[in-house]
Amino acid sequence: MSLSQAMQQGLALDGGLFVPACFPKIDYSSLPESISYSQFAENMLAPFFKEDSLSRHLSSICQRSFNFPLSRVELDANNEILELFHGPTLSFKDFGAQFLANCLSHVKTDKTFTILVATSGDTGSAVASAFYQKPNIRVVVLFPKDKISMRQQHQITCWGDNVLALAVKGRFDDCQKLVKAAFSDPWWQSKTHLNTSNSINIGRLLPQTTYYAYTAWQYFLKHKQKANFIVPSGNIGNVTACFWAKEMGFPIGRIVVSQNENNVIGQYLQSKKLPNKPSIETLANAMDVGKPSNFERLYDLFDHDFEEFKQHVHGLKASDQAIKQTVLSVYQQYGQIICPHTATAFYARSLLDSNTPFIMVATAHPAKFENIVEPILQQKIQVPEHLKALLDKKQHYTQIAPEMDQLCKAYQEAFLPKSYI
Ligand SMILES: *Cc1c(COP(=O)(O)O)cnc(C)c1O
Repeated sequence: MSLSQAMQQGLALDGGLFVPACFPKIDYSSLPESISYSQFAENMLAPFFKEDSLSRHLSSICQRSFNFPLSRVELDANNEILELFHGPTLSFKDFGAQFLANCLSHVKTDKTFTILVATSGDTGSAVASAFYQKPNIRVVVLFPKDKISMRQQHQITCWGDNVLALAVKGRFDDCQKLVKAAFSDPWWQSKTHLNTSNSINIGRLLPQTTYYAYTAWQYFLKHKQKANFIVPSGNIGNVTACFWAKEMGFPIGRIVVSQNENNVIGQYLQSKKLPNKPSIETLANAMDVGKPSNFERLYDLFDHDFEEFKQHVHGLKASDQAIKQTVLSVYQQYGQIICPHTATAFYARSLLDSNTPFIMVATAHPAKFENIVEPILQQKIQVPEHLKALLDKKQHYTQIAPEMDQLCKAYQEAFLPKSYI
């Protein structure tokens, strides 16, 4: 299937996730050093769009999607932060959501797509912001009621227009289950052109490979060494993108998966089995995932072989107590305010050899989690302007139980004319 077809479909017909048929090896040594991040991304993604109808738009898609800073903060000789939270909704989810939205808006079609998306906190706002008022697109965001921060909720529910926000009485896994179930449900198939922009959509994951590749390339130019990353992980999408960038030949060394108490990778590495438990609520709520859907992509990358997987994937977990202590100690040591998710990476870092350099991936701006971070640091966090603007808007959302008929009803009331029901 072509990439744009896979993006439009979201999930394969058998319920599986799309992966690239092969990974092109990218020759980064020939790229001019002065190239911008979005130009770099365009070069890197071009082979995936070969013979695809979107290829002639790739340049403008990259320019419009990667139009905010990717910033690195050097803390000391062996420690750096890669800040991925300078987009419109202040988490790394903006990279993938904007890229996918810009791709889909170039696809020639007379259909109206419905983007159905489950969120553990940050995907919902990134997707709503990226697709807001895009023609021929409806967005339905399912978020777990009372399990995300008030500011995260505000960023999801402030849109209106083509964005329907639903507060689901359950956990993230219940939201994700509803999305997957809708894909094989005859009602949704007959009434809507369903798509998703969770990281199960390859159009969200693929653009995330670019910031790892770009950072590793820049790091290599400066240090003549491979970059090692620690990636806070929940649904395992972001870290899979890092492994994919490595697979394409970029100078990436070790990749460490940091997790919260849910620790699915840690448990898998220990027992060879995926745990089958509902997610646990933690301070790093966007990582509260009990059944990470991207696991199968990572597993596939290592040929479905446990030993191979174990050789490449290192998992470390941080308890809530460790998260709190780390938010405080990183502030005391470096003067940096980090979010609870980023804290899992710093905690993992403290368990690793201090002479090996690592880049900690900062996945969200701490101002989204002021309820957690401010009491620890005993000070107010400055709110970035674009968050302030969203927080001034009114919230709209409907509450539902995690059941298919309630989801259908909410959708009909929001989007379908009475005669159609
Ligand atoms: C989504 C999210 C994560 C986890 O990313 P996955 O791709 O689901 O592993 C980590 N931190 C923050 C802030 C997030 O929003």
